[in-house]
Amino acid sequence: MTITSLSRRLEKVEAKRPPGTSIFIAWGRTLEAAEGEIALRQRAGMIRQGESAVALLWPDPEPLPASRRVLFNGGRGREPKISDRELALLAAAFRAEAVDRERATAIKAGENVSGLDETDFYIRSLRRESRNLDQDLRFLCREENPEPEIHWPERQSNGLHRPCACPTCLSDKTTPMGAHKAHATRQAAWLARYLPGEGLFV
Ligand SMILES: [Zn+2]
Repeated sequence: MTITSLSRRLEKVEAKRPPGTSIFIAWGRTLEAAEGEIALRQRAGMIRQGESAVALLWPDPEPLPASRRVLFNGGRGREPKISDRELALLAAAFRAEAVDRERATAIKAGENVSGLDETDFYIRSLRRESRNLDQDLRFLCREENPEPEIHWPERQSNGLHRPCACPTCLSDKTTPMGAHKAHATRQAAWLARYLPGEGLFV
């Protein structure tokens, strides 16, 4: 994962919080376990009334991170004490929540949603809430159309370059030209599907 995508995720998480506020994050091997953890701490008064708390599924084999209060928006130079992996999962949970909310709103309004998927609903939530729509749409496009895997020619001792000759390069999937072309085609199709006529420069 790139630094850019992580800092963008952090911004998006922070954008939902007034300065200096915290979120209680509870990790569980199942969502039910994480929700139970929150309920337990609310009863014990360890999570205050009205305080944001989010239950998160920990899908990795590594030990569960501690359930705890994390301060966001602490100001410049005050990074929240949260790992990159935790942040990515938290951002994904916020995205899933936004998708559910948009879908429920559309269904309630009597809209036929059979042709719409998660990306459609997420774009709607961005249109509704984003503070920098252009940047967020570009970020989403890059995230859903990641850079292709490319095998560059190998520089030899005589200064010449020898193209890779592995099976995927022989079928042109991972050569610089082939990979770029396939990526451009896929991305154009994505843009035509989700953001037609947007004129989004990627
Ligand atoms: Zn190759």
